[in-house]
Amino acid sequence: MIKLHDKRFKPFLSEEEILSAVKKVAEEVALDYKDQVPIFVGVLNGAFVFVSDFLKYYQHPCEVSFVKLSSYHGLTSTGIVETLLDIPDNLEGRSVIILEDIIDTGRTLKELVHLFSNTNVKDFKIATLFYKPEVYNGEYSIDYVGMEIPDKFIVGYGLDYNELGRNLREVYQLNQNHMINLVLFGKPGAGKGTQAEFLKEKYNLKHISTGDVFRYNIKNGTELGKLAQSYMDKGDLVPDELTIKMLQEEVEKNPDASGFIFDGFPRTTAQSEALDNFLESKNMKINATIALEADDKVLVERLLERGKLSGRPDDQDKEKIENRFEEYNQKTAPLRQYYEAQSKFHSVNGIGTIDEVTQRLKAVIDTL
Ligand code: AMP
Repeated sequence: MIKLHDKRFKPFLSEEEILSAVKKVAEEVALDYKDQVPIFVGVLNGAFVFVSDFLKYYQHPCEVSFVKLSSYHGLTSTGIVETLLDIPDNLEGRSVIILEDIIDTGRTLKELVHLFSNTNVKDFKIATLFYKPEVYNGEYSIDYVGMEIPDKFIVGYGLDYNELGRNLREVYQLNQNHMINLVLFGKPGAGKGTQAEFLKEKYNLKHISTGDVFRYNIKNGTELGKLAQSYMDKGDLVPDELTIKMLQEEVEKNPDASGFIFDGFPRTTAQSEALDNFLESKNMKINATIALEADDKVLVERLLERGKLSGRPDDQDKEKIENRFEEYNQKTAPLRQYYEAQSKFHSVNGIGTIDEVTQRLKAVIDTL
């Protein structure tokens, strides 16, 4: 077992297994191209080790070049927008063979094919060392495959986890520790905080309440608290940029957590997209979103009662409470569709004793 940044990885493929896959690809390509001078184009950064070993097995005339793309999550439909190292000149009439370290969803491949689309090459082929058939979108046929692998996050032999691990001679896979990440969804007063207290004990999860973090910062007079206070006082949402950054910092403070309960986050579509992208970059995901449903009248009574006990200004004023409901209806309620589309949305009746509601939540979580 090795550790890179905050994650543990276990051995998956030995150097010998990898090299025999590299050799296989080189021999298959040679059968088709040994009588020409093909141009091999490696895709940086990940493919540099593969390209190097590939060439040692490919002892026929050939040229070598590289391209490099930069990916930005969440900005474009392909996720990739920039070419950092462009394709070689004068490809007209040549045979080009792309050398990829790994093909998973096929998003990078789409951009690569696009890059070569106006080059008038004679032949354009795709070779990859690793291939994940379970997740590949199937848009283009892949001509040479070293080895099919399951949909596991891997590092080593040129592949990285946040830039570490490229120099490992073997390939390692993420040691999945069965994280459970939950979003608790519901109007103010629905009982998210109360239930999160029980669930975090039962499932050993870290509870992140954005409202609590903001209140903590206000109490301590931090910069974040000062920025958030005016919005919170009126019952308005704090701007996404600030909230997303704060949430990410909270997750990063707990690299060894066995899961998170997100309470009060996300509250806007932009926040839910930011959360998905952020978790994906950490190889995590939301397992379920659970909505606690309750009638507005009941909620207003609960909030006014809570306001008396806690002194929270936004709980003591009916107008502010109504504004928070309005914010919920307009900005947060649409997230239901977002999570339904991912088959992650569960609805739970939030009326009843605390224990009754906890049992209903447990029944959902235990099916995950
Ligand atoms: P809560 O304790 O969840 O009721 O949150 C109290 C207040 O904190 C909200 O009315 C907002 O002003 C602010 N807040 C909490 N979470 C968020 C969020 N995800 N996005 C924007 N503002 C938030």
